[in-house]
Amino acid sequence: MATQRTLSIIKPDAVEQHNIGNILAMIEGAGLSIKAMRMLHLTRPMAEGFYAVHKERPFFGELVEFMTRGPVVVSVLEGDDAIAKYRALMGATNPANADEGTIRKAYAKDVGENAVHGSDGPDTAQTEIRYFFPGYEV
Ligand code: GDP
Repeated sequence: MATQRTLSIIKPDAVEQHNIGNILAMIEGAGLSIKAMRMLHLTRPMAEGFYAVHKERPFFGELVEFMTRGPVVVSVLEGDDAIAKYRALMGATNPANADEGTIRKAYAKDVGENAVHGSDGPDTAQTEIRYFFPGYEV
């Protein structure tokens, strides 16, 4: 499988609960390399822009509220099959359905406050990396 890059966000719930280090250790433990990283507090327009694909969903307001309530840690991950590998490591969107050994099983509270984001395909990975790392060579 080819080397890929994907975008990870450690969401405000996980930052508040002091799980940045635990989650980064799981990422590195899975063989993914951290190639770029920023900690920032998303503004409302940044969160709305990032999740624009969900803007018609009933939970959009709640999602934007959640993602702007505290700082996040955004990173570019690289590795073999990185997009699928990181999605597998994250676990199901709803932690009630997440497998043992996944980030969401360990650290997510519910379907909204679910600790991490990861790009879901090559096109979104490219768009999302550019969104947070505009000068980054993809
Ligand atoms: P993901 O790719 O696994 O993150 O899941 P989705 O793309 O379906 O949803 C994006 C994000 O929206 C999720 O990670 C959650 O933070 C949030 N979300 C999804 N479904 C719900 C919901 O039913 N309620 C709330 N409050 N948030 C949700």
